[in-house]
Amino acid sequence: MTDTSYGFDTLQIHAGARPDPATGARQTPIYQTTAYVFRDADHAAALFNLQEVGFIYSRLTNPTVAVLQERIATLEGGVGAVCCSSGHAAQIMALFPLMGPGKNIVASTRLYGGTVTQFSHTIKRFGWECKFVDFDDLDAVKDAIDDNTRAVFGEAIANPGGYIMDVRAIADIADAAQVPLIIDNTTATPFLCRPIEHGATLVVHSTTKYLTGNGTVTGGCIVDSGNFDWSATDKFPSLSQPEPAYHGLKFHETFGNLAFTFHGIAIGLRDLGMTMNPQAAHYTLMGTETLSLRMERHVENAVKIANWLEQDDRIEKVTYAGLESSPYYERTKTVCPKGAGALFTISVKGGYEACVKLVNGLEIFSHVANLGDTRSLVIHSASTTHRQLSPEQQEAAGAGPNVVRISIGTENADDLIADLDQALAQATA
Ligand SMILES: *Cc1c(COP(=O)(O)O)cnc(C)c1O
Repeated sequence: MTDTSYGFDTLQIHAGARPDPATGARQTPIYQTTAYVFRDADHAAALFNLQEVGFIYSRLTNPTVAVLQERIATLEGGVGAVCCSSGHAAQIMALFPLMGPGKNIVASTRLYGGTVTQFSHTIKRFGWECKFVDFDDLDAVKDAIDDNTRAVFGEAIANPGGYIMDVRAIADIADAAQVPLIIDNTTATPFLCRPIEHGATLVVHSTTKYLTGNGTVTGGCIVDSGNFDWSATDKFPSLSQPEPAYHGLKFHETFGNLAFTFHGIAIGLRDLGMTMNPQAAHYTLMGTETLSLRMERHVENAVKIANWLEQDDRIEKVTYAGLESSPYYERTKTVCPKGAGALFTISVKGGYEACVKLVNGLEIFSHVANLGDTRSLVIHSASTTHRQLSPEQQEAAGAGPNVVRISIGTENADDLIADLDQALAQATA
């Protein structure tokens, strides 16, 4: 176990890892194996009965992935974590033990576009519903929760940027309704925001983004705070009631505050199979080692560039919560005191045509559908990810024809500003 009293910079390098017991290798090896030899038949039986914790088969557990799980859990202040194949997989894996046909979640209207699609269309195939609510309207959140609600879901710093959620206020509402609050902490990372300290039950990540940090692999993670009493009501039978697939074992009674984590591995990964592979875990472990250093630079650059853009005549609006003019500037100080992240949108004078020229004219910024890379990235949503939506839907999603989303990297801020300057000159000539 890791001594969690160490500082963040120490934990991001050491949490979960130890020299390899077989070889002394200092860096965590990539355990590129599918299966693990049992000591004997009794050992195998104990593992399969969940009476002993160990490695059986890499769809469920793998030593490289296990190091990453412990590292992210430690950085978030949780008791356990389960890694999986992508951020979207993490969302399904987080909801799976809580939901059933006819059950619903209450989610913020301000979410990553792919999450809006997953929650408004795909989860219906499971008989699940999502009610989207403005999370700044606390009464509306309370009213949306009903007897069939099994989770509340939001992003601490919402993609595409500019919105900061009052995590504590929403956590209090979820608590009163005896349902867990799930926070997608992808764009904040545990360096900027630790949602469990603000009352969240579960934290999900797309590790594809800042945790890996350089656009190499997709991955996801679900962190459990260990703070939720799954047996307090009859709402969560998967965790509180006997599990037929394990001879009637009750996860909450047997594993206590690790019930959600064990369920995620023993049922979620075993039966849904959205497993993270050890190569991906390796890349993400490399990323976590420098997380705080990168996030400090991401934020420093974002503040400089957002301020420069805000005073530029060619720009109509900048939605960055780190700007003093932002309606969320004050909230940032309590939710994410080290900064509002590095993702925001700008509205360019000249509309659709100017935005397309801007994106085409940039030299350092890459035009890609990703964020949280060391490289600065840009995307014009109206001509790409939100192309199929009506003009009204584009506006509602914060992806109007004159809006460009920017993910600020860790390059020299002066170079990024010069690049934006020359591309804006082309765009508005
Ligand atoms: C990218 C992203 C996701 C989805 O993650 P994938 O790894 O692409 O599946 C979910 N939430 C947020 C905030 C994201 O940025």
